[in-house]
Amino acid sequence: MTRARLDRIEFSKVILNRIKVAMRDMSVRAFPASMGSAEIADFQYRAPASLNELRRVLRSIPRRSEVKFIAGGMSLIPTMKLGLVSPSFLIDLNQTKDLKGWTLEGRSLRVGSMARYSDILEAKRITRLFPELEDCISQIGDMQVRNRGTIGGALAHGDPSGDLSSCMIALGAVLKIKREKGSLDKIPVEEFFKGFFSTSLGARDVLTEVEVPLDSKLLRGGSYLKLERTAGDFATVGVGVSLWFEKRLTGTNARRIVRAGIGLTSAGDRPLKGRRGEKLLVGSPPSEELFGNVSSAVAEETDPSSDVRGDKEFKKQMFRVFAKRALIRSTERAGLRLG
Ligand SMILES: Cc1cc2nc3c(=O)[nH]c(=O)nc-3n(C[C@H](O)[C@H](O)[C@H](O)COP(=O)(O)OP(=O)(O)OC[C@H]3O[C@@H](n4cnc5c(N)ncnc54)[C@H](O)[C@@H]3O)c2cc1C
Repeated sequence: MTRARLDRIEFSKVILNRIKVAMRDMSVRAFPASMGSAEIADFQYRAPASLNELRRVLRSIPRRSEVKFIAGGMSLIPTMKLGLVSPSFLIDLNQTKDLKGWTLEGRSLRVGSMARYSDILEAKRITRLFPELEDCISQIGDMQVRNRGTIGGALAHGDPSGDLSSCMIALGAVLKIKREKGSLDKIPVEEFFKGFFSTSLGARDVLTEVEVPLDSKLLRGGSYLKLERTAGDFATVGVGVSLWFEKRLTGTNARRIVRAGIGLTSAGDRPLKGRRGEKLLVGSPPSEELFGNVSSAVAEETDPSSDVRGDKEFKKQMFRVFAKRALIRSTERAGLRLG
């Protein structure tokens, strides 16, 4: 990719964020109608029915042409209407059968990238096992957004205020990516996010599946808490916590935490993994003191920006409060109490 093209992409990302911040600040209704009704530039449309067909379609498109995939369109269409993205080829993944649905068997939950938010919310087998996913998705946008928005689109968008991304970080999800050259990569979700609206996806790479590990040998509980100004708003702060406890008591009277995941929304330039807090949790039984220390470590690790939702210090304090609440709720959901 040429330097000029990279600069253009970076510039678009910066402008996009400014517009996003302005939209949130003004409320969407106050957004100037002229901007929202801008003409979308002409593009060619393709709708492959399978991944094989998608590969053939991509091969037939000249290298210099800009390609964009469309999933739910919840984020892409507004950016196209604003003229921030003007692909010459729009590839619609809504007919691509290999990307749909989910399976829950063996050692993992596997969700196709074109599964909608609402597919997950309606799947009681999933929400019973992973209550943090229900907490998280039920607070994303409104019903229309949840009916259209997809699991893959939400992650591929790379928004630091994307709720699902940090919830998936807490859950230790792994993403499968079909590279343009045909190889299949598996990437831990926290390594997928490279920076502000930037991921490890190349322009013609497709996110195909999200895999969430299961471990029936452990007790688990999880939660996702979000501070928002109004229902459906993006997060002022968001905290996802997933905890795995030993099932059998080994020596002590309390069950120790054997695995911990913390994901943080609107905490920096990308969805963040609360590594310091996770480290403190592993090996100890849940307690008021431990969770106090962990939530302080979580707050220290964040680097939120000051905006109309609050200044940096306020947000850090909210990370502390929400992390502690999410830790307690996750423990309770595993059927345990604080020692
Ligand atoms: C009114 C409104 C409120 C919202 N509120 C929230 C909220 O509270 N919390 C929150 O987290 N989000 C919120 N969102 C964003 C929403 O979650 C979007 O649905 C999501 O960010 C994008 O998913 P999508 O399927 O619509 O993707 P699209 O908009 O279709 O695509 C987004 C980007 O991902 C790329 N892409 C999509 N699928 C793939 C794939 N399989 N492989 C490679 N690239 C792909 C596209 O090319 C595009 O660049 C809101 C959106 C709206 C419109």
